[in-house]
Amino acid sequence: MGSQNNRVAWFQGGDVPCEPMPYDRPYRLVLFGPPGVGKGTQAELLTHVLGTCHLSTGDVFRAAQCEGGSSPAVKEALDAMRRGELVSDPLVVALVRERARCLRCRGGFLLDGFPRTIAQAEALDMLLAEQDVSLNAVLDYELSLEKIVERLSGRRTCPRCNAVYHLTTRPPLAAGVCDQCGGGLVQRVDDRLGSVRVRMQTYQANTQPLIDYYSRTGKLVTIQAVGSPTEILERTLAAISPFQPDSGDSGVRSDTNPPAPK
Ligand code: AMP
Repeated sequence: MGSQNNRVAWFQGGDVPCEPMPYDRPYRLVLFGPPGVGKGTQAELLTHVLGTCHLSTGDVFRAAQCEGGSSPAVKEALDAMRRGELVSDPLVVALVRERARCLRCRGGFLLDGFPRTIAQAEALDMLLAEQDVSLNAVLDYELSLEKIVERLSGRRTCPRCNAVYHLTTRPPLAAGVCDQCGGGLVQRVDDRLGSVRVRMQTYQANTQPLIDYYSRTGKLVTIQAVGSPTEILERTLAAISPFQPDSGDSGVRSDTNPPAPK
């Protein structure tokens, strides 16, 4: 959303205007995938290629965390997030509802991290119907646990500028030092082996019912997340091509008022 995809309306919610690119065929997609599958990288690449805005509920919570999160509802959400738990359905749905205008943006969207439960999926169906738009496809990235552990255990991040490295596939020029800002690289606490297994179990318990939910819609596309980011992107683009939106299904500007709920 926005010519630079700066996601201003998504981060700030409410009536904040943004400048969507006029895409003739905006894709409206949901992304699923376990931690470490490379979903964030694919979201970035797809945003570039398709012009869709990357709408991540986790990013909204992290931005609120940086701002200190003052309201009791936001504080409750951030506490849940720190404990590694899911934020309550009513709170997450209220957050997305406040940003429902982004769902009918004429640039399309890529929902990442929402929905995470059946209640959220049902709420999303309702919000989409209210906005008079529908999903084109739901992408489910798959990778073996062994490969996920390999990817996450080698991941190192720079706490100063958030750059991401991998000990074997994307090493920094000098060991332990960020190429971009010179900061010291660290391993995220939740990337350690024990945490990875717990995160995988949480993901499987919560997400499998959603996979079943969306497979019944005929819009579920499973993508093998092996190979380089470019290979996975090419696989993704091939997989979604049968779900291409109709020409003329251009949505509306995100800075106009949505229609009244039906
Ligand atoms: P993510 O970046 O998507 O992994 O989200 C980071 C954290 O934000 C999660 O561990 C949850 O605490 C919270 N969160 C993000 N999206 C949701 C959601 N749809 N439902 C519940 N909690 C969420």
